[in-house]
Amino acid sequence: MVDNNTIMGLGKCVECGAKETDGFSCYEMFQFPLVWEHNDPELYALHFWLVSCYMIQHPSNYTEEGYKLMVNLFTEAYDNEWHTEYILRRNRDLVSKIDKITNPLPNNKRKRRYRNWSMTIEEIYISGEASS
Ligand SMILES: [Zn+2]
Repeated sequence: MVDNNTIMGLGKCVECGAKETDGFSCYEMFQFPLVWEHNDPELYALHFWLVSCYMIQHPSNYTEEGYKLMVNLFTEAYDNEWHTEYILRRNRDLVSKIDKITNPLPNNKRKRRYRNWSMTIEEIYISGEASS
């Protein structure tokens, strides 16, 4: 799989710090839960949280404005305990502006700054599908 979204350096995602596992890059590990949730409605209900967490941990893929929009949506949804349907409606509004939120720079020109997170996609990948 060609990884166009993350850059691994010294076995770690240079942006979120996820450790390369089973030879998979950060972005490749992210593909696994996307497949798992496809077959599991309970897991799929958490789709927004999975995707937005991943997006928030990789700001280089977005414009500054797009990133702010995402963080705002996440924060509002969390703080106000929005129901899934409402989140998805608001998320669709956001995604409809996606060409404005994606960083126009080619992948290898994007500036990536490492930030430390208490949890990254690596933990999700390692936990595996069975935990649901
Ligand atoms: Zn990463």
